Formats: sequence, C-alpha cells, structure tokens
Amino acid sequence: ASLYKIDGWGAPYFSVNGSGDISIRPHGSATLAHQEIDLMKVVKKASDPKEFGGLGLQLPLIVRFPDVLRHRLESLQAAFDLAIHSNGYVSHYQGVYPVKCNQDRYIVEDVVDFGSPFRFGLEAGSKPELLLAMSCLSKGSPDAFLVCNGYKDAEYISLALIGRKLGFNTVIVLEQEEELDLVIEIGRRTGIRPVIGLRAKLRTRHSGHFGSTSGEKGKFGLTATQILGVARRLRAVDMLDCLQLLHFHIGSQIPSTHLLSNGVAEAAQIYCELARLGAGMRVIDVGGGLGIDYDGSHSEDSDVSVGYGLEEYADAVVRSIRSVCDRKYVRHPVICSESGRALVSHHSVLVFEAVSATSPESSTPRLGGHDLTCFVEGLADEGRADYLNLTAAAVRGEYETCMLYAEQLKRRCMDQFKDGSIGLEHLAAVDALYDMVSEAINVADPPVRTYHVNLSLFTSIPDFWAIGQLFPIVPIHRLEQRPKSRGVLSDLTCDSDGKVDRFIGGRTSLPLHEMEGKFGGGSGGGYYLGMFLGGAYQEALGGLHNLFGGPSVVRVSQCDGPHCFAVTRAAPGPSCADVLRAMQHEPEIMFETLKRRVEEVVFVGVEDEEGGGGVVENLARAFHGMPYLSCGGGGGGGV
Ligand code: PLP
Repeated sequence: ASLYKIDGWGAPYFSVNGSGDISIRPHGSATLAHQEIDLMKVVKKASDPKEFGGLGLQLPLIVRFPDVLRHRLESLQAAFDLAIHSNGYVSHYQGVYPVKCNQDRYIVEDVVDFGSPFRFGLEAGSKPELLLAMSCLSKGSPDAFLVCNGYKDAEYISLALIGRKLGFNTVIVLEQEEELDLVIEIGRRTGIRPVIGLRAKLRTRHSGHFGSTSGEKGKFGLTATQILGVARRLRAVDMLDCLQLLHFHIGSQIPSTHLLSNGVAEAAQIYCELARLGAGMRVIDVGGGLGIDYDGSHSEDSDVSVGYGLEEYADAVVRSIRSVCDRKYVRHPVICSESGRALVSHHSVLVFEAVSATSPESSTPRLGGHDLTCFVEGLADEGRADYLNLTAAAVRGEYETCMLYAEQLKRRCMDQFKDGSIGLEHLAAVDALYDMVSEAINVADPPVRTYHVNLSLFTSIPDFWAIGQLFPIVPIHRLEQRPKSRGVLSDLTCDSDGKVDRFIGGRTSLPLHEMEGKFGGGSGGGYYLGMFLGGAYQEALGGLHNLFGGPSVVRVSQCDGPHCFAVTRAAPGPSCADVLRAMQHEPEIMFETLKRRVEEVVFVGVEDEEGGGGVVENLARAFHGMPYLSCGGGGGGGV
C-alpha cells in the first residue's frame, strides 16, 4: 500500500486486504473490517459469464459505490454543520451538486435521495441539465435549490421560470448582463416572479490550472460596474427583492484555505453591498473548488493535491462570511456550495486489464541469432572500434563508458543502414546489443516496460490527455507481492498520446507485477488495474476516439452476506453498433448491406456449409460486441 501511497489518497475508503486485493470501506469506517468489499471479487462477479443474462460484463468496468457517495455527501454536510455551530453562525448550509461533474442518472438520483434530509439541491449549466435536474428533484426536498448557471437564452430562462411554477426552488444566476432583460421580460410575460442570483467576477484568483475561471480577466461573471447596473435596473422595474443570491466560483481544486478565505471575504463584501442597496439577499453560493488530494501529499503547492480537508474548508468559508457580515451588520446568509469533484470523485473506480507487456524475453536483447564475429566484421572501422572499446570498458567495469560506446555504435550503424552498407539483421543486432548494455547497467532499476491496456485514455481518462491531470492508478490485486517491474500504460487507440507515462508522486513509471495471464505468457489470470478518484468529469468529457465507447458499469452496495456486497445494477458498455450510431452511421443498414454482399459475393474457395450463414452470424456478433478487446473478463470470458 505504501508503494502506491494508498493510505494518503485512499483514506478512509481504500486499503489493501490480507489477500493483497484492494478493499473498499464504503462508509469510510476502519472499524468494520469484516464489511470491507474486495474489489477483485466485484470484478470477478461482474465479468462472470454466468451473470447478467449469461454474458457477464466486459471490461473496462466502472464500479460505483453509492455508499461512498452517501458518505461523501453526509461528511460535507457534517463539516459545514460543525463549522456553523462552532463559529456561532446564525444560518445554515444547503449545498447543491453541479450535475456537469457526472450527469449519470443514478448518481444524480442518489445525490437527491441522500441529500433530501439536508435540502441538498442541484446545479445545472445548460438546458438538458436543467431538464434532468428538475426531473430528479421531483423526488427531493421542495426547499432544495435548483441553481441555474451557464449562458442562457430565452428558452433556458422560460424553462427555469416554469420550474418555479412547478414548485422547484429555481434560482436564475446571471452570468452576463444581457440575461437580465430576458429574465425581466419573460417573467413579466408569464407572470412568474423570478428568484435571481448573479455571478460576481472576483479579483481573487488562483494560480493553478483551474484559476483562469477567476480574476478580473476571467471568462465568467459580472464586474463591479455590471453588478451595480443590475441592481439599478432591478430597482427601476421594482424587482430588487428578486435578487437574492450572490454566486462566485474561484476555480476547481482551490489549493489552500488562505486563497479560499480571500475569495469568500471579497464575495461577502459584495453580498453585503447588495444588501445595503436594498436587494433581497438571502444566499451566498461559494461555487465549486473544494479540492481532492489525488496524490495523498496534502500539499497546497501541487495541482493534484490540496492542503486542507472538508472540515478546514467549511470552517474557512463560514468564518470569512461571518466576519464580513458581522462587521457590516448584515444577517448571516444561507451558505450554498457547488462542490462536485469532492462529492463524486471517490465513489467510482475504473477497472481495466493489462493484456500484454513488453516481456523480459522480448526486451532482453538477443543478437538475433547472429554470429557475433560476423556482426562485428560487417561494421565500418569506427563501428568496430566502438565495439572493441565497449567490451574493454565492460571488462574494466566502467558501465557509464559502456553506455556511451553503445549509443555511439547504435548511431553509426543507423547511418550505415541508411547508406545501405549493412542489412536489417545487423541493425537488429546492434539494437539488441544496446538494450543488453542498458539492461545490465540498470539491474537495480528494472527496465520500464510498456503494459498494453484494454482501455481508451481519450474515453476514460480524458483529463490526463487534455490537462495533464493525474489520478492514482494501482493494481487491484497481487499487492501482497512486491512488484518487480516498472511500466507505462499504452492504450488501444492508434494515437501516440494514448499512453499514461506520468503518475502521482512525480513518477514516470509505475511499479507493476510481471504479467502472468494468458496474454502475458503465463497460466494465471489477467492483470487488473484500477484508476481511482475519477468519478468527476471523466465520463462526460470522454470522447469516442477510434470509436471506443464508455466502459461497462456496475453499482455495488454493501450488504450482509459472505462477500458483503450486492451488484444492484449492471449495464454493459456501448456496443460497436451504439458507437457507430453516435457518428450518424446506421448499423442496421450497414449490417443489411454487408449481409447482401455476403450473399452476392461468391464464396469461391470459402468452405461454408451454411451458405455464408456463419459469416453473417460473425458480422452480427461484431455489431453487438463492445469495441474493446474481448479478453480476460466478461463478454464471454470470465476472470
Ligand atoms: N460551479 C461552477 C460554476 C463551476 O464552473 C464548477 C466547475 O468548474 C463547479 C461548480 C464544480 O467545481 P468542483 O468540481 O471543483 O467542485
């Protein structure tokens, strides 16, 4: 566990059990060891060919733990309740979940269900998000906020107003000055009085990757002049009482409570000014930004960590608002936050399989069966001298010098190959000699291998590719054995960017075990890895590069019983037909076209007793199957 810093980023949910598997404590409690869920057992069950309609699910697989989600939500609420109590704050906390972090129906429904006792609401940033938020909130608390952010047109605003009419607590947050006229006009036309919020453009800015959202040049929000303009316009139409909420968002992954406190204090001043100007202010919405400690370092100097926990975050927010409001004699507002990453990241684990690795054999150099003397004789004089110098240095034990000669020899041979004076066999032999030398030098430091994984980075870990975001990646089994190898991960796409070669802790390779499975050359099972803390943003941002669709998904709840878990939902990932359809192809027509071709094309020389029936069946299966490799688990395989 320490090799992968699991105690740092994984606590209190993830650890390693006595069998060397990753285990999950869905309620974050270390005392209920017997109720831990063995992730490997979940994967086995999910991919068992006897399960789920006799097929089993194919990997890659997202395993969701709603119990973890509940624990995150309750912990966030408890952190604010504590901060409110201990700071003598005279109002309450009422959070919303920004659905953009993960719009999966069951996640949103869970948030509404788990959050209902706390009046927890939702935040939407577009029309479809608003539709799903209204639908899901039908089962939530009537007081829950439905915060409508994002750029808005007349349709969006009408929808938000209809929401109010339907009894949802919708708040239209102005992102741009121009939205105000639409709100006033549509409100008047429909006779629905809106509740309005506005997003302030703060000067406080964070310098990390997500900081571009904030600061004077930030993309979003209203400046001081624009805020004054909105207040004046609302007063002119006798609607200043409708302005009730002030929103800001400094950026995701706020690194420190110091920065947070500065931003909140600036926003609280604006809030108090709006109250002074006569607006009906009631709520301060501190946006998102509650960060995740992806590398477990608890550091505020890293883009993948933060220097605080839930309680310190809540305390900084409550303390700053209280201090500003008390100084201005303004009533304490309801505090809302739009924490997304912090809510959903932990509850979802992406499990994928390594299908092969550049094996020790293949990377262990051979001279291609060549006679060394022949090899040396084929070299030009300088090359021969390099070779002799290399062997002399090896005898003296001067390994650095060996490496220098090996590099030189390799360069020279490449030149000779280009001018046609040596053949492919020579080139292969010198490559092998070079690898042999570098491997001999690196005995204490095993060579980095490439592990080929049955995954698309662009679909499942898009933030790694797009913004260099690191997530903890760990084998989910065999952790009782010390890994003897190191590797980078190469995905299935035909794209050189499709590889993971940076890992948490500043590593450029990951300690990994030797492959034992059938694809790794041995007789054991496959090799399974988990990408953790990826429950936010990755699924919605993921694309269809090479037409690899999303993973299969299972929901797993803790329960009594031998394995302490039950799979409560299982959905196979999109089939080839599904991903083709997403690109406007019509799989049914495609299939018919190909089928006709089978009938037309002569099966000359093709033995097919069924008159092409076998080929047609294979074609049908290809459309129904998932785009990923059918190996190891599920889809007819089984772990
Ligand atoms: N609210 C707004 C307006 C955002 O832009 C974002 C994301 O950047 C969030 C909330 C969610 O932020 P986080 O996931 O950091 O909590």
